[in-house]
Amino acid sequence: MRKEGLITSDRVFDAFVSVDRAHFSPTTPYADSPQTIGHAATISAPHMHASAAETLLPYLNPGSKVLDIGSGSGYLTNIFAALVRPGGTVIGVDHIQPLVDLGLKNTKKSPEGAKALEEGLIKFVCADGRKGWKEGAPYDVIHVGAACGVLHQELVEQLKAPGRMFVPVEEQDGMQYVFVVDKDKDGGVRRERLYGVQYVPLTDAPKV
Ligand code: SAH
Repeated sequence: MRKEGLITSDRVFDAFVSVDRAHFSPTTPYADSPQTIGHAATISAPHMHASAAETLLPYLNPGSKVLDIGSGSGYLTNIFAALVRPGGTVIGVDHIQPLVDLGLKNTKKSPEGAKALEEGLIKFVCADGRKGWKEGAPYDVIHVGAACGVLHQELVEQLKAPGRMFVPVEEQDGMQYVFVVDKDKDGGVRRERLYGVQYVPLTDAPKV
C-alpha cells in the first residue's frame, strides 16, 4: 500500500506493520478486498483501513481517545491503539456480542494486543453504535465502520473540540459516501464528502 501511495505517513506504515492482519481476517488476509467474518459482517478491505487511518492521523496521537464503531474483527481498533499508545484509549463498539467476543479473541493473539487489553488501552463493548458510547466521551476521533442512514447527532456531540470523525453515510440517491466531520476548537462543525464506498449498514441489532 505504501508503494501504491495508499499509505503515505511513516506512522501509519509502522502501525500497519505492527498489527498482523492474519490474526483478524479468516481468509486471504493480505488481499485488498473485504472478507466475511460471519453475522453478515466483513473485515473491510486494507485500502479502506489505510484511508481511515491516514484521514484521521492528525488526531491520532499518544494519549488520544478513539471510538471505533462497528469494530467487527477488531483489526482497525488495534491499528488505532498502535497510533495512540502510550496513554490513549480505543473503545471498539459492536452490537453483536459474538463479534465483540471475536474482536477480543483476535486482539489476544498478539502479546501487544493482550497487553493493550490488560492496560485498558483497548476496550470492546456491546452497544448500539448509533448512540456512540457516552461513558468514554468526548473523543478526539470517531471512526464508523458501517454506513449510517443519517449523520447521527449523538456522534457529533461526542466529538472533542477539536476532533474528527470518519463516517460512511447513505445519501438520498442510495449511494454511500465517506464523510469527514471536523469539529473545530470553538465547537463549529464542518463536513466534507470524500468518495463513494460500499459498507454494510449500521442497523438495529438482530433479534435473538
Ligand atoms: N471495522 C470492522 C468492520 C466490520 S463490518 C472491520 O474492519 O473488521 C461493520 C460492523 O458494524 C459489523 O461488525 C456490524 O455488526 C457492526 N454494526 C452494524 N450496526 C451496528 C450498530 N447499530 N451498532 C454497533 N455496531 C454495528
